Amino acid sequence: MTQKSLTHLSITEALAGLSKKEFSAVEYTRAHIEATEQNRDLNCYITETPDIALRQAAESDARRAKGQAGLLDGVPIAIKDLFCTQGVRTTAASRILDQFVPEYESTVTSKIFAEGAVMLGKVNLDSFGMGSTTGSSAFGQTFNPWRSTTSPDVKLVPGGSSGGSSAVVAARMAPGALGTDTGGSIRQPAAFCGISGIKPTYGRCSRFGVIAYASSLDQAGVFARTVEDCALMLKSISGYDPKDSTSANKPVPDFVAGLQGGNVKRLKVGIPKEYRVEGMPQEIDESWHKGTQWLKDQGAEIVDISLPHVKYALPAYYILAPCEASSNLARYDGVRYGRRIEGKDLKETYELTRAHGFQDEVKRRIMVGTYALSAGYYDAYYVKAQKLRRLIRDDYMKAFEKCDVLLTPITPSAAFPVGQNEDDPIKMYLEDIFTISLNLAGLPGMCVPAMLNAEGLPLGLQIIGRPWDEETVLRAARGLEIAADFRALPGMLGTKMAA
Ligand code: GLN
Repeated sequence: MTQKSLTHLSITEALAGLSKKEFSAVEYTRAHIEATEQNRDLNCYITETPDIALRQAAESDARRAKGQAGLLDGVPIAIKDLFCTQGVRTTAASRILDQFVPEYESTVTSKIFAEGAVMLGKVNLDSFGMGSTTGSSAFGQTFNPWRSTTSPDVKLVPGGSSGGSSAVVAARMAPGALGTDTGGSIRQPAAFCGISGIKPTYGRCSRFGVIAYASSLDQAGVFARTVEDCALMLKSISGYDPKDSTSANKPVPDFVAGLQGGNVKRLKVGIPKEYRVEGMPQEIDESWHKGTQWLKDQGAEIVDISLPHVKYALPAYYILAPCEASSNLARYDGVRYGRRIEGKDLKETYELTRAHGFQDEVKRRIMVGTYALSAGYYDAYYVKAQKLRRLIRDDYMKAFEKCDVLLTPITPSAAFPVGQNEDDPIKMYLEDIFTISLNLAGLPGMCVPAMLNAEGLPLGLQIIGRPWDEETVLRAARGLEIAADFRALPGMLGTKMAA
């Protein structure tokens, strides 16, 4: 098989090919390493690990020959550089950790390795996960492999913070990637890059070894090009971990088996009217209508839903996330972790280290969080935001008495040009309007690519589910996937259909 067709296989197709010995894990991995070398101009990787990948691939071939293959055996995966990987530099796309080599492995990465996955390297993100474009990375911006048909010379953002993860999967440099989602960082970049991605219920996956941004919101998840591949990857990273007190001791369903034979007949799909925000572009509204019709045509029942407090999600999040960040990032003081810039005394050492080590957006969040947590403002901001958080969750739980899942847009626009919104943080925060309330409520959410807009750029749709009901989320997402039949490829890969 040619390199091109190997890199176009879904994970499920590749696993079938590997088990039939049509190609080896080494060949499959090498094809992705070559694709990575050919696409370096997208700036997806902070650290490539081809030697580790080839060694792991050879080990996978040996295991498979002995009939001992795991769920992801021989599948090359890109890892967001927020997951600690033992012996491999882990930067959080920051200067303060630019030389940090963890002594331990995150639970999620150790789980994929236990299933035989191969590590291609560590991909770019917004610094500490703070942003929606990868523009706050200390390692430069990642570019979206998609270009608009009207302005093909203009480089577009891949979304963020997990923009490296979405770009590599869209550009066929990896069939799957790991990401994290604090306010939309899996779903928004998946939508901008025309791929699928799922953020599971808070507590479904361990946060052990994931560099913390906002601990009560952070959750690991996956990117792939099909719903089934997402189900497979999610299965391999889920489960209780005694090392994370917020991981849930709940059985993990077989997400892949749940998809087989499942359909959306009689599924109650809620359409929350508050998601129809003022000034929403027509193309977003259209994609939402289309998605609703697709599910209806497959026998789903459409229910109108109201989530009256969801309009407060953005302000509540942009208090709570910075508060938690200001506390989590206090540990980077030049003494225990990462870079240290020596000053004349300890205080100046802290100041110089943190001033140099953090990107502007990170500093902004630390300042907002510190302010909101300060004695005089705690009740006015932090406590109030916590109350709103509860009301938002209550709204969702009430909605789920009437429906099984919700269908909404993911982003207020398609991918936008690099640099746009960058000097206006508020505009950037508005990017998260459709994704952020799920994190506040701890709910699972998934992006499915739905269609191309008039400029040939992908638009995604979001399925939101009850806590712990990723199975139904995946089933509804599969319904959308079947109807959307999204096969378009990013311009840089030509206009041919995926193999
Ligand atoms: N854009 C949001 C933020 O900057 C979400 C990021 C995320 O989910 N990590 O906080």
